[in-house]
Amino acid sequence: MNNDRIVINDLVVFANHGVMKEEKTMGQKFMVSLSLYGDMSRAAETDDIAHALNYAEVCAFVTEFTKNNRCRLIETAAENIANALLVAYPILERVDITLKKPWAPIGLPLDSVAVALTRRRSVAYIGLGSNMGDKKGYLDRAIKAIEESGVCRVLKVSEYILTKPVGDVEQDDFLNACAKIDTVLPPQTLLRLLHDIENQAGRVRTVRWGPRTLDLDILLFDDVIMDTPELTLPHPELVKREFALAPLAEIAPYAYHPVAREYAVNLLERLR
Ligand code: ADP
Ligand code: MG
Repeated sequence: MNNDRIVINDLVVFANHGVMKEEKTMGQKFMVSLSLYGDMSRAAETDDIAHALNYAEVCAFVTEFTKNNRCRLIETAAENIANALLVAYPILERVDITLKKPWAPIGLPLDSVAVALTRRRSVAYIGLGSNMGDKKGYLDRAIKAIEESGVCRVLKVSEYILTKPVGDVEQDDFLNACAKIDTVLPPQTLLRLLHDIENQAGRVRTVRWGPRTLDLDILLFDDVIMDTPELTLPHPELVKREFALAPLAEIAPYAYHPVAREYAVNLLERLR
């Protein structure tokens, strides 16, 4: 990513964020500062507003959003504004936001209090699987649900492939696929969204590695490496599972595995 950005300083918005009653009813002044990162070379080269991020429009969007999306905490308000901008403007790769509250009612003469945070767009590869009921229907609906979450975009979907179950549990064949998405969510929040979608598909977690209506795994998330009780990235089984690697290599042969230090296509070749 390059460092191109548009900078907006102290856009004043009158809104009702706050914990106290007066803040909610009377409202107060907020100031929004933004650094909006995205590739501006096309706009700079052509001198044409059609290729530019229209900052007048961005300011109107932020004003409306800040007024209408009421939060108790300015942390939440700032995060919601940053995410809404990333979703509304595909050219944006990163948003730095500072949300100031110059009239914070603390009974002491402070100049202002503010939160500052950064949100960015990430690319992730999701492995999908189903081996119960209308398998194709479950995969189709999962992809639709990811797209309709409002916080992800589906960029590519592999072919659906029929695979034999691995492990000791006697069960039906799987339909597997992989989707390339981009998302404004951090990895843990994306996993919660995927679990919600699994639950809506009526998934019941009984036998580990047993039959399921829908399984959604995060195979890769940017080049993030992490290992927590809830989430391991890259997916710990990815390099051993042909049913996950094959659809991944189909849509992204050069997706890079930051632990194995190999491209998807090479990992697949080695496994086979
Ligand atoms: P599996 O996908 O291995 O067949 P489950 O879907 O039952 O098994 O997942 C069990 C747990 O694995 C989930 O509750 C989740 O917290 C954890 N997990 C760890 N890393 C990941 C990942 N990268 N993607 C999805 N789930 C993960
Ligand atoms: Mg899973």
